[in-house]
Amino acid sequence: MTALPDPELPDHATGPAPPPAPRAIPERTRRAVLECYGEQGRRALAAVDAGSVKRYLDFVVVVGTRDEYIVEGDLCTCDRSLFRNGFCWHQLAARIAVLADLCEEYDLWYHAALE
Ligand SMILES: [Zn+2]
Repeated sequence: MTALPDPELPDHATGPAPPPAPRAIPERTRRAVLECYGEQGRRALAAVDAGSVKRYLDFVVVVGTRDEYIVEGDLCTCDRSLFRNGFCWHQLAARIAVLADLCEEYDLWYHAALE
């Protein structure tokens, strides 16, 4: 008969504990972002660090200085992106946070939260 695992012992008690998952942007990535995007890069990194990128079930939302903005692909709902057709730091922050898995996750539909 096989012995059941002791429920009191966490899984990693049988071996070395795995290192905690890094929840930070690697230094090399930071430097590259700052080099390529300057001030926009600095703002995007600060937003990711502050947990200002939120992933809902339907959209990624970035909390900006005056409002929060939906980022969808190459579009953002901020004035700069919508009216001047420009690249904005919200888009950059969303990309970094999604790629580095640093979004605040919400098990909600953003469009429903707007109602
Ligand atoms: Zn924007």
